Parts: sequence; structure tokens; C-alpha cells
Amino acid sequence: MADLTLRVCALYPDLLSIYADRGNLQVLERRCQWRGIAFEMTTAAIGEAIDPEAHDLYYLGGGQDRDQRLCADDLVGRKAQSLRAAAERGALVFGICGGYQLLGRSYEIDGDLIPGVGLVDAITVREDGPRLIGNVAIEVELPGMSEKRILAGFENHGGRTQLGSGEHPLGQVLRGHGNDGRSGAEGVLRGSVIGTYLHGPLLPKNVWFADWLIATALPNAAPMAALDDDLEEAAHAAAIRAAGL
Ligand code: GLN
Repeated sequence: MADLTLRVCALYPDLLSIYADRGNLQVLERRCQWRGIAFEMTTAAIGEAIDPEAHDLYYLGGGQDRDQRLCADDLVGRKAQSLRAAAERGALVFGICGGYQLLGRSYEIDGDLIPGVGLVDAITVREDGPRLIGNVAIEVELPGMSEKRILAGFENHGGRTQLGSGEHPLGQVLRGHGNDGRSGAEGVLRGSVIGTYLHGPLLPKNVWFADWLIATALPNAAPMAALDDDLEEAAHAAAIRAAGL
């Protein structure tokens, strides 16, 4: 497996990375390395183009409204075409919270529209009412998996996301708010494009999902070697308990 490399492109890592979202990248790196899979990370800041052919996974973390605004014009103006081309060839595009919102069509705050790249049919609106905050657990059924699994994490968003009728959520809310606090839907899964509100960061609490991402991004890596996950499984169980399950 030594000739395998997971090639990740992190978009705006200085602006879109709250609640330790960069920990997601560290988990991917470690779990690859422990299996003898090389890990290569490229970053793309404002003003930098991305190569639609060069990466297996394109990553956008969460962000404050102000920082999302800074990224949005660049994302739409400079990177959207490449990101779409990457998704069309099956590369994973993975957005967390603010990054997820930017994968949709738009994020509206007080009548001001922050544009998204429209890789998924979703709109986000900052409504009156409290932010949606707290521990969250969702049930997911992913391609290639024989059983439903739980993702547990933490959410903190003012935006409420509505999926278009043709879109599928990433999972169903068991505890917490999810996309909008009403629909029971959480995140989005459209082909190789994945969005979720779960931070915390997500992958250290759900290493099975990190492995699913690696295996999906690198089909030749399967079957992946099992790792000693006692600590990781304890973290997963603690996150599920924290969500109240
Ligand atoms: N700024 C966005 C919101 O409040 C996303 C927040 C986040 O990434 N945690 O809805």
C-alpha cells in the first residue's frame, strides 16, 4: 500500500477552521500514516487557484460569518469551476458548518446574500431566534456500508439550511438541531459532496467516518487495515453520551 497517497486540499485553512476543525485533517493524516498510506496536504488561500485533478479530497472547515464573507467571493469567483470539476470526477468535497453553507447556493444574513458555489441545492438563512448550539448525534447510512452508524459532534450555527427536494441529508437527527432545528435532517450527501454542521472536531470523535472518507477517496486502499482504536472508540462513546443518547 506504500504507493498510495491521500492528497488533500484544505481551502482557506486560516479563515475556515473553528472548533478545532483542523483536527479533522490531523486524523486523516495519522490514520493514513498508520496504514502506510502517504498523506499530502496542499492549502489554497484567497487568491490561489485550485487544481481540479490534483487532490482526492477538498476540505472546507467552519467559519464565523465575517470570515465566510471574506472567502465567499473568492470561492465563487476563483475556485467554483475547479471545485465542480473535481466533484464531477468523483473527488470528495467535504464542508463543515460554514464550509457546508458555502457549498450550497447562498447564505442570507439580514437581507445580505453571501454566495455559495451551488454544488448542492441548499440555501441557508439566518433567521431570528437563537443560534442552534449543542452536542448532536445523527444516524447515517452511507454508500458501501452494511449498517447504519452514528456520527456525534457539536454544532453552533445561526444559519438554518433548507435542502432542495432532490437532495439527501447526510443523516437524521437523533439529538440536537441539525440543518434547521425542525426538519430532522442533518447535512447533505450528494455523490461525492458532503456537508455537515458537526464540529468538535468531527473526525477524532468518529474515526469510522474518517476511515470511510479515506476508503471512498482511495478505492484501492480497501480493505483497510484495522487499527487499535480503544481510545478512539471511547471518544466516540463519550461524544454520543454527551449528546444525550
Ligand atoms: N457562521 C455560520 C453560522 O453561524 C457558520 C458557523 C460555524 O461554522 N460554526 O451559521
